[in-house]
Amino acid sequence: MKPLFYCPSCDERHEPIPTCPDCETFLRYSAETDAVQRAIEGDFWAALPKHIRTISMGEANTPLVRLERTSEELGIDIYGKLESLNPTCSFKDRGSALSVSSVVDPGTDYEAVVVASTGNTATSVAAYAAHAGVPCAVLVPAATSTAKLSQAAAHGVRMFTVEGDFSECFSRAQTIADDHILNATAVYSANPYIACADRTVAFELLSDLSDIPDWVSVPVGAGPLLGGTYDGFTELADVGIADKTPSMLCVQARGCHPVVRGFDKGRAVSAWNEPITTSVGAIADPLRGYAADGERTRQTVVESDGDAIALEDDLVYEWTDRLAEWEGIYAEPASAASVAALAESEAVDTSESAVALVTGHGLKEDNLREPEFESKGTVETVRTALLN
Ligand SMILES: *Cc1c(COP(=O)(O)O)cnc(C)c1O
Ligand SMILES: [Zn+2]
Repeated sequence: MKPLFYCPSCDERHEPIPTCPDCETFLRYSAETDAVQRAIEGDFWAALPKHIRTISMGEANTPLVRLERTSEELGIDIYGKLESLNPTCSFKDRGSALSVSSVVDPGTDYEAVVVASTGNTATSVAAYAAHAGVPCAVLVPAATSTAKLSQAAAHGVRMFTVEGDFSECFSRAQTIADDHILNATAVYSANPYIACADRTVAFELLSDLSDIPDWVSVPVGAGPLLGGTYDGFTELADVGIADKTPSMLCVQARGCHPVVRGFDKGRAVSAWNEPITTSVGAIADPLRGYAADGERTRQTVVESDGDAIALEDDLVYEWTDRLAEWEGIYAEPASAASVAALAESEAVDTSESAVALVTGHGLKEDNLREPEFESKGTVETVRTALLN
């Protein structure tokens, strides 16, 4: 076993940095078998780097819910993993807990965090930084959901807007980061903790299902959630706890889908230089300046015998409504895209089993749905509406 971060190409161990100093491959983390076993039993921190001091707010171990009506309509056995129920209402808390823990760890020189984000990472890192008493600066694109921004601002962090898109914010954060300031942005090339923490999704799924699903559907920006989750599954197979790995389904917004484009063309992912024509920002990362992150995700999808699919916003919003109406799950549109992708992908067969990662909560979105009032709520009209 390789307790430290290691390079899958050179098989060398390294300090926690994003890429191998010798070959630039993204470093990975894997835990001892007994630690993985403890993680499967519900100890989120067991499979994470041990030297790190723990800043935790009860992240992970999120519910897995069978999507009864969706399963029936699509003829696939579908479960939703409600990452929306993490402390700040998105899966980003898994990585933030570990990143911020590394900052307060006496073994590092870090004193503060900087984070680039379209919303959820900002909110998550801000909350964990506040909890840990760590100074935090948030860089967001000028056009970002105010619901998400006010959630981040509530934690008293320093907020900065950057003219431009997420890529612009990220490159600024990378330049700001040094030995004293950790870039806690949720992409592989910011720091190795994000994908490392996301491995735990796989351990929890095995624990809840007692089996490996045929598919795991993941909304993708740069893709550390998809890559980290798959790393967790390969780790389970490597230590002999599981006998197979799932196929990964990558979903992005059609208005900016560099990973899916690379997958479709069967070639390395390149940055998205066309206009970004989607409002589903969490799954529309142009990857400008860090296309290698998207390429790592594409390679994972290929290795897993998976599929990648780009969806129009209308379809994503349709499934956001369906998830709320059919299943009682209020998800943000980027998250509902994971279910939409299972409906749309031709690679997913009926009779197969699938998990959709419901990555973030609907309450984060501004005015997702205006209430429509039917008529005056008299005893008569309400009874008729309910019982006829
Ligand atoms: C960040 C985010 C994603 C994309 O995940 P990546 O690991 O960054 O690719 C998907 N959905 C939501 C709600 C997110 O916040
Ligand atoms: Zn290497």
